[in-house]
Amino acid sequence: MSRSYYIAGNWKMHKTRSESAELARALVDQLKDGKHTYLAAPSFTSLETVGAIVKGTNIRLGAQDCACEEQGAHTGEVSVLQLKDLGVQTIILGHSERRHTYKEDDALINKKVKLALQYGFEVILCIGELLEEREAGKVEAVCETQTVKGLEGVTAAEMANVVIAYEPVWAIGTGKTATPEDAEAVHAFVRKVLARLYGAELAEKVLIQYGGSVKPENAAQLMAKENIDGALVGGASLKPETFVPIAKFV
Ligand code: PEP
Repeated sequence: MSRSYYIAGNWKMHKTRSESAELARALVDQLKDGKHTYLAAPSFTSLETVGAIVKGTNIRLGAQDCACEEQGAHTGEVSVLQLKDLGVQTIILGHSERRHTYKEDDALINKKVKLALQYGFEVILCIGELLEEREAGKVEAVCETQTVKGLEGVTAAEMANVVIAYEPVWAIGTGKTATPEDAEAVHAFVRKVLARLYGAELAEKVLIQYGGSVKPENAAQLMAKENIDGALVGGASLKPETFVPIAKFV
């Protein structure tokens, strides 16, 4: 089964609108001959600006989160309706910063996943263990729980719009990367969990990105692994000099 590669940039809480526009323009220009699928996920405040620049190109527009309700009295939240209106195609959910800094649990993330899918978005569901969980031998247990609970109630048909991102928390923004072998072992395990949930044929089609200090120097080795289908990139996505070589690893 040959899956395509999907390279996503999570710009996190960086860049003003003009800085976002500058990066988006550079990516459009430098990735126009890129062979893979790409995503730019700027801050909410830059979505409209970046959306206008990437429209009609090979770069998808992503949001970094959404509210778990459609609309209403939810001060500070951003809804799927508002994201649709901005032309957002993909929503990153369950990022480790949402899970650990903002205490989002699997039930909340699952609610967001189902709502986003109901509104026709592609979802990148992030999973991954903390360092102490890895050291305690709980990598598989944590990733299994986050996958199963995150996807609870998601139908096989909806899975066509789900991407999983395995992001070991200890590797995010730390400069430490999982070895390609360690990452591959978790990706293969997650695919087995997906096969149990949805059957082997469907599981073979799901893209599983790796995230955690992906850099131009390590992208190709990671991507060479059978079950690693792309990358979710944080720090290195903020500059074309570092994102483009990752995006064009081959
Ligand atoms: C991320 O936040 O999704 C991420 C992988 O960050 P970084 O690439 O900076 O480790």
